[in-house]
Amino acid sequence: MTHPTITTSNNAGLNPQLNVWNNPAPNEVGESSVEFLHLLSGPTHIKITGKDRSRSRAVVTLLHGNEPSGLHGVYEILRLGLKPAVDIHIYIGSVDAAKQAPGFIYRMLPHHKDLNRCFKSPFGETEQDHLAKEIIESLKTIHPECVIDIHNTSGSSPSFGVTTFMDSTHDALVSLFTHRMIVTDLSLGALMEISETMMPTVTIECGGVQDPESNLMVTEGLGRYLTYDDVLSVGHTDMSLEFFHNPIRLELKEGSEIAYGDHCLLEDGVTLLPEIEHFNFGFVTPDSRLGFVYGDIEQNLTAKDMEGRELIGEYFELREGELYPKKILKLFMVTTNPEIARKDCLFYLTVPDEE
Ligand SMILES: [Zn+2]
Repeated sequence: MTHPTITTSNNAGLNPQLNVWNNPAPNEVGESSVEFLHLLSGPTHIKITGKDRSRSRAVVTLLHGNEPSGLHGVYEILRLGLKPAVDIHIYIGSVDAAKQAPGFIYRMLPHHKDLNRCFKSPFGETEQDHLAKEIIESLKTIHPECVIDIHNTSGSSPSFGVTTFMDSTHDALVSLFTHRMIVTDLSLGALMEISETMMPTVTIECGGVQDPESNLMVTEGLGRYLTYDDVLSVGHTDMSLEFFHNPIRLELKEGSEIAYGDHCLLEDGVTLLPEIEHFNFGFVTPDSRLGFVYGDIEQNLTAKDMEGRELIGEYFELREGELYPKKILKLFMVTTNPEIARKDCLFYLTVPDEE
C-alpha cells in the first residue's frame, strides 16, 4: 500500500530508491508503528516543515530492519503533530527488510549487504550501496546542522550514544537521549563515519527491542531533538555523560562457530553463557565465567585494537576449556544472537583503568 502523497525522489543519481513524504498529518500515519511501516513503499525521506526554515536537522533510522524503536519514536512524534523548531528530515532505511514477515526480524534481507556497513567511499554497486549513497547525497544537499542515527542494540542493554568525535556538540546531542557515550575510531562503514565529515553526527543505541524503556527513551529524546531551539550546546541538560573510549571488538575467527548454552555445545567453536547479556555495561572480573571454547582460544577468537594488534591473550584465557577474562573488563553490545555474533561481533570491551 502506498500513501497517495508519497512521491519518488529525484534528487540523486541512478535508480533513486528514497520516496519523499512531505508533512505527514497525524491522521495519515496509521494506528500503530506497524501500520505506519506498511504505509511506506520502500526507503523513505519524510520532510517536516519547522518554525525556522533557515535551519534543519536530520534523523536516520531503521538502517537495520530488526531495530524498530527509532521507527516507533518517529511514528509517535508524527502522531503528536508537533511543529518542530527547524525543518526536520527523517530517513527510514531498511523498510523492505523490516516488513518481511513476521516483521522486524531481518537486519537485512537474505543475501543483501548490511546497509550500515555501506557508508564508505568508493560506494559499491549493490542496491544497499546505492541507497547509502543516495542518503549521503541528500544530506549533502540539505546540509542539516546535525544528524542522529537511531538503532537498537542486538541484545538487552541500557541505552547509549556512539560518536567518532569528542566535543561539546556531540555531548549535547547524545544527552538529549542518554547519559552513556562510547567514543570510537572504529571504521566499519557506518553512516556516522562519513556524515561526521560534514556535520556533527551521533548514533543512538536505544537498548534492546525487548527492553520496554527503549521505545520510551527514543520518543522522549526525539521530542527534545525536534522542538528545542538549540540542540548543539550542553546548556539544555545538567546530566553528565559517562564515557567509554575506543572499545575493542571480540570477534569470532574465520572458520570457528558460535552457540549459546550452559555447557560446551560445539566441537571446534565457542559457546557463550546466555546470561552473558546481563553483563552489558557491567564489569566482568577474572572470576566471571563467560563460556567455553573447544580447542585453542587463538584459533577461535580475536580481539584487536585500532592498530590491529591482537590482544586476545592479554584479555582472555581458557581454564580447562572454560573462558574467563584475565582482568577486569567492561562489556557492552553483548549479543546472544548467533547470527549477529558471527557477522558482527560477540561484544565490545574496554579496560576500565585505561578510560
Ligand atoms: Zn543497528
